[in-house]
Amino acid sequence: MVAFFKSRRRARLRALPISDEWRRTIERNVPIVRRLPGADREELFGHVQVFLAEKHFEGCGGLELTDEIRVTIAAQACLLLLHRDTDYYPLLTSILVYPSTYVVEGEHHLGGGVWEEGDEPHLGHTGSSLSALVLAWDSSLGGARVIDDGENLVFHEFAHQLDFESGDANGTPLLESNGQYASWARVLGAEFDALRRASETGAPSVLDEYGAENPAEFFAVATEAFFERPIELRSKHAALYEQLRAFYRQDPAEW
Ligand SMILES: [Zn+2]
Repeated sequence: MVAFFKSRRRARLRALPISDEWRRTIERNVPIVRRLPGADREELFGHVQVFLAEKHFEGCGGLELTDEIRVTIAAQACLLLLHRDTDYYPLLTSILVYPSTYVVEGEHHLGGGVWEEGDEPHLGHTGSSLSALVLAWDSSLGGARVIDDGENLVFHEFAHQLDFESGDANGTPLLESNGQYASWARVLGAEFDALRRASETGAPSVLDEYGAENPAEFFAVATEAFFERPIELRSKHAALYEQLRAFYRQDPAEW
């Protein structure tokens, strides 16, 4: 019954017309949206209404939240949800936004089992046991405005949230069938190994080297490349592109 009311409320929110101001903000700050087929753009605006009604935003480090900030982040987050029966990032309650790079205190993994105590600057992060996602506003906006450099902080962090929905931060989101899990593991496993080798030898890749860190980062980095460098990704990593096309049910190389 709860699910019934929830889905009815969401359908109502999706049907609300988006304000001209929000539409202009999205088109100005998230220009990738202008490339979307018209029906996808309208679907996205509907998702944005649900997302903003359900998620709690908080300004941190002196940042005063505005509609521009909320709408710009929501539009990017919701682009990852098109064409699917989505539960709108069910593990996520709050989005904390800092003006810029923020410092996280504590222990940091330097790699190879070596840990360091101290403060580390961050642009964004989230975690499978956190119900929050943290973003630096300047990087969230900058990543959205430059649509072809393969870097998008918001896509990256929300891809982690999709990954967590499968119960583990392991680089595998919820897929449709056993067959899809098998091909995902085969293709992404091989691509992850290839990126590790490339990062050791310094060979260039469409995929950011940070994806060599672990399979969860690989999926997040691959998501950024899929939406922001789709043509290169498709030509150099066709099998990976195909897995992501099937998962996201979108074909950005054709936009
Ligand atoms: Zn990450």
